[in-house]
Amino acid sequence: MAAVVWSLSGLQATEHRIAQEGLYKCRNGFICRTMPDDSTTTRGEDEKAATLRPRPGISRDTAFFWEGITQGELRIQRCQSCERLFHPPVVRCPDCGIYDLGYLVSEGKGTIYSYVEPCHPKLPCFDYPYVVGLVELTEGTRLLTNIVDVAPNQVSVGMPVELVIRQTDPELALPMFRPAPGLQGRN
Ligand SMILES: [Zn+2]
Repeated sequence: MAAVVWSLSGLQATEHRIAQEGLYKCRNGFICRTMPDDSTTTRGEDEKAATLRPRPGISRDTAFFWEGITQGELRIQRCQSCERLFHPPVVRCPDCGIYDLGYLVSEGKGTIYSYVEPCHPKLPCFDYPYVVGLVELTEGTRLLTNIVDVAPNQVSVGMPVELVIRQTDPELALPMFRPAPGLQGRN
């Protein structure tokens, strides 16, 4: 049974998942499952799943990223020809058109480019308060993530942050960022 998932993959892979697994794309861009459509799912199972973070939609194009997370690395996709960086991963370089895409291992440092504190509606899979941040990595690309280990009212644009990989439940680890006071911000 598919759980609620979200996808980092390219458009083709996303549409494939929607077609194959009875998923749909909600107005926020997340790939969600429709209501239970068979008798094998109990109400208790659905309620338990709702308390877990959304599962990533892992495809051939994004597997390198999630394998990196399990090894404690933040891998950022890089075109082998023009060396442009991409996140989320893409299937093909939009600049030079090649499919030969590799990755670099980020040093896990950057600054907060933008952030928001989601308040409503409250979802059981998140612990409130929490901060969603767009982090500009020192390598030159940006990553949508969570800012942790700091009160929301202490977060600011330009704040230097560093990578920390957090286990949100026994089956899911996610890259997050926490303040790095020793680093120089851009403000
Ligand atoms: Zn390229």
